[in-house]
Amino acid sequence: HAKESGRGNRQFYATSMDASALDVLHQERLLRDAIARNDFELHYQPQIHLADGTLQGLEALVRWRHPERGLVGPDEFITFSESRGLITPIGRWVMREACRQLKAWQDEGLAPVPVAVNLSALEFRQRDVAAEIASVLLETGLAPQYLEIELTESVLMHQTGQVLDTLNAIKALGVGISIDDFGTGYSSLAYLKRYPIDKLKIDRSFVADTPGNTDDVAIVTAIIQMGRSLQLQTVAEGVETQAQIDLLAGLGCDLIQGFVVAMPMGEESTRRWLLRNKTK
Ligand code: C2E
Ligand code: MG
Ligand code: MG
Ligand code: MG
Repeated sequence: HAKESGRGNRQFYATSMDASALDVLHQERLLRDAIARNDFELHYQPQIHLADGTLQGLEALVRWRHPERGLVGPDEFITFSESRGLITPIGRWVMREACRQLKAWQDEGLAPVPVAVNLSALEFRQRDVAAEIASVLLETGLAPQYLEIELTESVLMHQTGQVLDTLNAIKALGVGISIDDFGTGYSSLAYLKRYPIDKLKIDRSFVADTPGNTDDVAIVTAIIQMGRSLQLQTVAEGVETQAQIDLLAGLGCDLIQGFVVAMPMGEESTRRWLLRNKTK
């Protein structure tokens, strides 16, 4: 129909523009409802020591229980939430829920390991993260060494004085700091020296094509060596195969996370995974 005439074209175009504007409003409304009802859930993915396979930690990954589309992953709504000014309540819920859940598992004798929470650059700038962490730890009773914050390199690029103060304040609480998706942003050795960072998480785009792709092997090797020389723990993200495990073990990578260990799991599946892991 759209190709029939110039007029038809305009009409078609105008209609689809209206539809997408309406859809944005509709999605925003659904998201606001979800926030009001806490219609989110956290899935957890284990991180294990490469040397002996023991559990090192769990990463909390948010999902939206969308009324029309089922469970929706963060790549589909975090940026949208930010653009609609709705990320803060979601991020606060994630932080509180991750700490509450980990404390509950610890009270059962499970998961004597940290939980990692992701914070986007915008969230890091908009919220008083250190004060918020302190209050959530107090409220949930979780000990600070059982919380980690994952930040991307884009956080380190902005307002260095304020970023340094905030990171130092988080560190002073006893909470761990990881750099997520390392290698995809603009970090440098200088940043890594300046900020109180504990872990580098090697972005899964570098891991995906190893061991076959020699360029990727070179990049992963360099990051692991740099991590070691700066006394930072290195974590390989998105590890899917035994061949990748063998490569990473040979390179001296400390930790791995990925489907080869476990997919991110809902609360009940994680609990069962922790129970099985405990009796090993
Ligand atoms: P991320 O922090 O780098 O998390 C790892 C992502 O890789 C997760 O996707 C996980 O499901 C996926 N993954 C893990 N292992 C494998 C693997 O072996 N192969 C492949 N192909 N993928 C793997 P997910 O859960 O969709 O999260 C995507 C991103 O959304 C996260 O990347 C993180 O940046 C962001 N995110 C997740 N939860 C939150 C949150 O609570 N707040 C904020 N601000 N961002 C979040
Ligand atoms: Mg992460
Ligand atoms: Mg990552
Ligand atoms: Mg990512």
